Amino acid sequence: MITISLDQGPAKHLENGVTAGQALKELGVPEDRRVVAARVNGVSVDLDSVLEGDCAISPIRVDTPEGLETMRHSASHVMAEAVKSLFPGVKFAIGPAIESGFYYDFDVPEPFNPEDLEKIEARMGKLIARDLPFIREEVDREEAIRRFREQGETYKVELLEELPLPRVSLYRQGDFIDLCRGPHIPSTGYIGAVKLTGISGAYWRGDERNPMLQRLYGTAFSTPEELARHLELLEEAKRRDHRRLGRELGLFSIEDEAGPGLVIYHPKGAILRSLIEDFERREHLKRGYQMVMGPQILKADLWQRSGHMDNYRDLMYFCEVEGQTYGIKPMNCVAHMLIYKSKVRSYRELPMRLFELGTVLRHERSGVLHGLTRVRQFTQDDAHILCTPEQVESEIAGVLDFVSEVMAIFGFEYEVELSTRPEKSIGTDTEWELATNALINALKTRNLPFAVCAGEGAFYGPKIDVKLKDALQRRWQCATIQCDFTLPERFDLTYVGADGGRHRPVMLHRVILGSLERFMGVLVEHFAGAFPVWLAPVQAILLPITDRVHAYAREVAAALLDANLRVEVDERPETLRYKIREAQLQKIPYMIIMGDREAAQGTLAPRLRDGTEWKDMPLEAFKARLQEESRIPSPKK
Ligand SMILES: [Zn+2]
Ligand SMILES: [Zn+2]
Repeated sequence: MITISLDQGPAKHLENGVTAGQALKELGVPEDRRVVAARVNGVSVDLDSVLEGDCAISPIRVDTPEGLETMRHSASHVMAEAVKSLFPGVKFAIGPAIESGFYYDFDVPEPFNPEDLEKIEARMGKLIARDLPFIREEVDREEAIRRFREQGETYKVELLEELPLPRVSLYRQGDFIDLCRGPHIPSTGYIGAVKLTGISGAYWRGDERNPMLQRLYGTAFSTPEELARHLELLEEAKRRDHRRLGRELGLFSIEDEAGPGLVIYHPKGAILRSLIEDFERREHLKRGYQMVMGPQILKADLWQRSGHMDNYRDLMYFCEVEGQTYGIKPMNCVAHMLIYKSKVRSYRELPMRLFELGTVLRHERSGVLHGLTRVRQFTQDDAHILCTPEQVESEIAGVLDFVSEVMAIFGFEYEVELSTRPEKSIGTDTEWELATNALINALKTRNLPFAVCAGEGAFYGPKIDVKLKDALQRRWQCATIQCDFTLPERFDLTYVGADGGRHRPVMLHRVILGSLERFMGVLVEHFAGAFPVWLAPVQAILLPITDRVHAYAREVAAALLDANLRVEVDERPETLRYKIREAQLQKIPYMIIMGDREAAQGTLAPRLRDGTEWKDMPLEAFKARLQEESRIPSPKK
């Protein structure tokens, strides 16, 4: 007999050799197809795995991230089985669960096409209906190599040859066998709903010197309703895709001719960008930051001194000028160090907050570039705070307040993560403790809940990351607050303290919105292109019905432009219907249709995006309204 206890629940004496599933039942966990696996002494196992010795057990349900992952990974095996039965001669690589589904990489003679996807999905449906059990078998590694080699599964053989284990586990369902650690759901019928979502090419092990494989993506949920909701969200995300909207709204383009990851701002995008920049300057000046600007290129020796040559060289671009090597800046810190160092500093000057809308270049691999959210040239709302050790905590709290106000202005919720000391790090224990405690205390005084990412800090200091949540509940990195022990050392920064002695200042790097490019991409998707009036590149468009009112339209436009409002007149000889349609597609907040009646009365009939209309509105009243709505909203707490 062995003693098996349920997590924080009853314990029972059961026969040695009982399965995990039986033990859960004995311990009173109701039999339920939402239980897909079990955790035994902290390790995830199949429900039919045999328990030997005393242990603690708990069910893994499909409505937890781990349970869902187990089901999706099982679905990838079912997809592989379907592919095996439909495409003879296919070789199997790997098939993991990923964030919102799963994939499997196949070596097939012909690339898959969309019709193949439908066939594979239909076959998976049949395999799921047959409710085939997943059966685990443990064999010697040599035996597994022999079996897979016999079947010509060269990728599996390669994986096995690198596994430093004497024995490995295989999983079989139907006539498909895979090398797999498990665990799996008990049988294929536990998959509630499945959908194949895409095809792409993928090099074996991500290395372009290896063969190109075909990667099939899919997702699975425990009920058809959950799958339907997920697919709706995907559709919605596609509808809001900033790359498509960016083109349609005339915001930006990224051209092959110019190079990947290099953003070209078109007129509407340039306006949006400068609105955000104006906002940034105002908000920073208000909070005691000083504006500075550094050069785009700095001598390589300086990058050596800052440590960037050792740690960021692969991400940097270089150029030669008069026999001297320069590095194009991947970060804005270095020039700020030189500003601090330009004269003897007193403790009375601290905290010193140097702010720059700094444009940086980083050589990201072309494979990871994506619209505005991952680019090679971008501008950060970057600041460096130099302060005394006593000031660190209140400075961090000030940055947290800044973040909270800015997020409220744009209407974003956000989450906070604290990353602590990694294994490889510089700085003394005292420094790390001081900095980490300052971050924690600041978070606590602001009542901000935070997740701890243990050991995920940079080697030169701990940090806080802020992830904003957009309208589709997706998380995006925005603000970071980073303590740095290296740069003040490397640049030998000092200040004269109240005691007359020289001291080392503490340095914080921080951004609020982060990359303005990424933030704009997020804004476009969050608002689905329908920006609030204060951010809209064009706030109102005037649509004269006949040539007779063109003069009146220009007069109105001039008055609005003069009041710093952003308006356009559509005088093209198109039908009104066409112009209205176009203004709607451009998602312009106000459309103002003008006929003889308005011209004669000197009034306006503005129409909102939601269809609301006003008749006979005096120009002054409309102007006042638009001016009011153009103001930056005050942060609501
Ligand atoms: Zn597997
Ligand atoms: Zn920095």
